[in-house]
Amino acid sequence: MADQRLGAPLDVTPRVACSLMGTPIHDVTLAETVAYIARWIEIGGIHQIATVNPEFLMQARKDAAFRAALNRAALCLPDGYGVLWAARLRGKRLRERVPGSDLVPRLSAEAAQRGWRVFYLGAAPGVAEKAAAILTVRHPGLTVAGCYAGSPSPDEEDAIVARIQTSQADLLFVAYGAPRQDLWLQRNLARTGAKVGMGVGGSFDFIAGVRKRAPRWIQRIGLEWFHRLLAEPWRWRRQLALPHFALLALLHLDQPVSKT
Ligand code: UDP
Repeated sequence: MADQRLGAPLDVTPRVACSLMGTPIHDVTLAETVAYIARWIEIGGIHQIATVNPEFLMQARKDAAFRAALNRAALCLPDGYGVLWAARLRGKRLRERVPGSDLVPRLSAEAAQRGWRVFYLGAAPGVAEKAAAILTVRHPGLTVAGCYAGSPSPDEEDAIVARIQTSQADLLFVAYGAPRQDLWLQRNLARTGAKVGMGVGGSFDFIAGVRKRAPRWIQRIGLEWFHRLLAEPWRWRRQLALPHFALLALLHLDQPVSKT
């Protein structure tokens, strides 16, 4: 069934454009992603969404559990120009970058209109509450099913799952950073009762204003990673993954290394 307003092909499963480092990448636009999620919330079931950037891919290349979680996700969104670039080297032109940080506000707006209950899990204590409060002001009618920092530690899982179950959330955002958030969803999404779960990294921090996102023009020229490095220099070691990723992509060595 097509959603006339968003014009997405909802009657087909999202198309995998290519596999990078053993991770599938879907060719979807932001509007199509919203339409798929709306459909999945309407029909029920369990759908996990990952926002894949080159750091994810480099991690998944070596981490079989993370790779398996991404392979089971309903959508692996191309979040990061590096992913679009590497796909193009494989002869696949993805139509659009779909950043998780854009989707959280966009889906919260959609939730306000459609009456979905949204749970904001993760980030430092108080940040999810602050982000949800800002989103509620921007989108009156947004039903915040719950906000909770918690932690990705397995000891806390049962209590967090119970909290989400009680909240009767339809849509669950998890901000524990990759790969923890994606593995958390893989283990627990089905138990929470939420129909769609998405790992969202630092998105709550950006909305709450505790971290500053790169200006649009920097995002457009593909230098968001550089802005992040200047703002958070302690990430330099993590960001060494980027030149390594570029080299492997250029040499067409973008296969997983079979290590667990
Ligand atoms: N975080 C958390 N608990 C943890 C580790 C991380 O709540 O044990 C939060 C952290 O506060 C931040 C988000 O997870 O809000 C991760 O942000 P980051 O930018 O590192 O994620 P990325 O998008 O790079 O994966």
